[in-house]
Amino acid sequence: MNRQEAIEHLKGVHSLCMYDHFLTSDEGDKMLDAIDALKPPTPDPDTGLLPCGCGGKAQIWPSEPTQFTKVVTDYEAGCTKCAMTTGWVRGKQENAVKVWNTAMGWKGGPEVDDD
Ligand SMILES: [Zn+2]
Repeated sequence: MNRQEAIEHLKGVHSLCMYDHFLTSDEGDKMLDAIDALKPPTPDPDTGLLPCGCGGKAQIWPSEPTQFTKVVTDYEAGCTKCAMTTGWVRGKQENAVKVWNTAMGWKGGPEVDDD
């Protein structure tokens, strides 16, 4: 069972419990909050970076441009709260985004089965 299937299963259990009045509405709301907490974090719409595991916001920055050709050769993604970083990642910004998001447990989205 992957995370998405677990969420669907728990929503089903929630519906049955509410239908049979096994839960008060407060307990039901708490269960829905718990189910929501299982949803994978979503990437920042501006940077494409997932939040850090510590709960901090991730940020990306370029290397110094090369001396003569002024080309940015590397990017680094890191957390603004705990200072964890990817280190310099060669190539385009999206390479560092991918490294960061993979480290944060990203597997391509909830449609990916992780059995
Ligand atoms: Zn962090």
